Amino acid sequence: MSSADNIENSELDELYTQVIFDHYKNPVNKRALEGFTNEHRGFNPLCGDEIIIQINVSELGLITDVGFQGTGCSISQASASILTKIVKDKSVEEVQIIIDNFRGILESNKKGSLQFDDLRALEGVKKFPIRIKCALLSWVTLEEIFEIRR
Ligand code: ZN
Repeated sequence: MSSADNIENSELDELYTQVIFDHYKNPVNKRALEGFTNEHRGFNPLCGDEIIIQINVSELGLITDVGFQGTGCSISQASASILTKIVKDKSVEEVQIIIDNFRGILESNKKGSLQFDDLRALEGVKKFPIRIKCALLSWVTLEEIFEIRR
């Protein structure tokens, strides 16, 4: 690796750290929904993170609204914020593919590309295995909602 690559990588790390920090400080859709079809709570005992996700799914299987509430580390809370931004107005099937892809990349080091910039920012947690559960908490919680719906 050339030194130019190193500089680029550290700048990228900084950029991604900033993305996570921004989501943590100013989360998207951190609110209780007035009407929703499903609600589920996720807990990560390793870190003490808690996430409650509420979604409204239309009869056609489209996620028309999503909100989260929670407490915990910046990774878990930023990840939930990123989740709400990405899944809104997508179908349950589309979102399941995104979840599978994201989990594969984080957990099994599967090669793949994340098509959303904010999600790519979370890929850096691979370097800190203990934080992978923090990053995945909201996604696993959403997946559990999908399983309950089936
Ligand atoms: Zn955590």
